[in-house]
Amino acid sequence: MNSISPKQRIFLSHASTDADRAALLCLQLENEGIPCWLAPRDIPAGKRYAEAILDGIDECAVFLLLFSADAGASTHVINELEHGASANKRILVVRTDDTDPSQNKQFALFVRSHQWFDASRGPLSLHLGQLVRDLRNLLDLSGDTFEHNDSHPNLAVAVPSGPVTASPSEPAKEATCSIGIEVDATAIRGCVFEVGNQETFGPTAEAEVDIDPAMRNPRGLLDAVKNLIGILVEKHFQSTPPVGIGIAMPGQVDVRAGTLKFGPNLYRARNLPVKSYLGGAFPRIPIRVDNDVRCATRCELHLGVGNQYDSFAWILVGSGVGSGTVIDRRIHFGNNFCAGEIGHTKVALSGPPCSCGQIGCLETFVKAQAVVERVQAIATDWQNRGRETLLSETNITAETVMAALDAGDAAAQEIASEIGARLGLGIANYLNVVNPAAVVIGGELMNKFFFHMIDDITAGIQRNALAEVANTPIVQSSHIDAGVAIGAALMFDPRDGWPYP
Ligand SMILES: [Zn+2]
Repeated sequence: MNSISPKQRIFLSHASTDADRAALLCLQLENEGIPCWLAPRDIPAGKRYAEAILDGIDECAVFLLLFSADAGASTHVINELEHGASANKRILVVRTDDTDPSQNKQFALFVRSHQWFDASRGPLSLHLGQLVRDLRNLLDLSGDTFEHNDSHPNLAVAVPSGPVTASPSEPAKEATCSIGIEVDATAIRGCVFEVGNQETFGPTAEAEVDIDPAMRNPRGLLDAVKNLIGILVEKHFQSTPPVGIGIAMPGQVDVRAGTLKFGPNLYRARNLPVKSYLGGAFPRIPIRVDNDVRCATRCELHLGVGNQYDSFAWILVGSGVGSGTVIDRRIHFGNNFCAGEIGHTKVALSGPPCSCGQIGCLETFVKAQAVVERVQAIATDWQNRGRETLLSETNITAETVMAALDAGDAAAQEIASEIGARLGLGIANYLNVVNPAAVVIGGELMNKFFFHMIDDITAGIQRNALAEVANTPIVQSSHIDAGVAIGAALMFDPRDGWPYP
């Protein structure tokens, strides 16, 4: 790191009461090869203080704010931050005590639209390793290395920040529409949705783009999302900006940080800083990120079966199996935002290996690929034994299997029974633990097979659930197509009570 040029310094902004802490951090960072600019140390002799500070910020590539209760009340810290933002510096907010920067009007926008780092527990030196990694990444603009941050639990990646023109005192006031984005490995769907209006049942505008094969990597994906948002903003928000942008990502999401922790079906991306990256491009618009299944659940809560049930489970069966839980009209996230991984609950002691590395997971028996493999195996078996079936080893689609079921094909019936029974077993476990008022089933696979399998699913539940919960209503999702994108937009609906900064 000795080759760092003077421009690649860190400006350390802090309240005067944090001077000792800032001086210690400065020393520690410089020991790690990260040069800092710190007042009063770096104020040239004879220069006016305020002028020297502005020059110091201009001279540095990264603006690091040690946020505390005192910093939040300090006029000079706010002035420094505003200067850093208008000078287009990459900003890292480090929270050092219990004061939540997102609750401070003048800082909230910066916390939302830039990286931040929570060092409020224990001494700052405890977080030094992680802080050094974050700062190195922020200093290194080449960072196309989203996948290589496995060991890093927090936001960490250098993100080219867009033009920062926002002033913290200008939040959007009159806007009533938000943007919802559903991200998939090959396509992105976006919608514009009027929030806060109980009469709204669908989006006011929709857009969908395929991701160019050349862009099917973590970085290209973020650019594609950014482009689609840009199109929606330009077309539908000419006078008033959206109240927010909600992003639904397939995989495990750190909801607080707005990071995709792991997207097994999204090029196996790890630690993708979705919120931070888009925040750089749209600094005036709040951004929230959640898991796609929870977004679909949110849509069902506010626009679907939530009209009848205050507590329910939403189960998705498609290329994977996931679920969302609503308890007393609130989405349940779980301590690490991991609640709802019903696909990895165990329904057998043996079976094919799962993407999570274990065996016996519900998902390995009922996801789309498992159905295809089962159809191939049974079609081969039946043909080898000279038994007639409409199923074949090739041309396996949901439509060919449904046609076989409709024609009363015995092999197809056997598969539907098998899968329905497994799914029923998985749902029975869920009912025994959570006892929701209803179970909603959706996802691409069950949208097609729901009525073909509901009897077998119900039988599986009756066999395995406690008598008290075995008669829980099982209903089909009412938002079949755009539920995920709408649910993403609904993160900004007042009804949703989004619990995070
Ligand atoms: Zn699993």
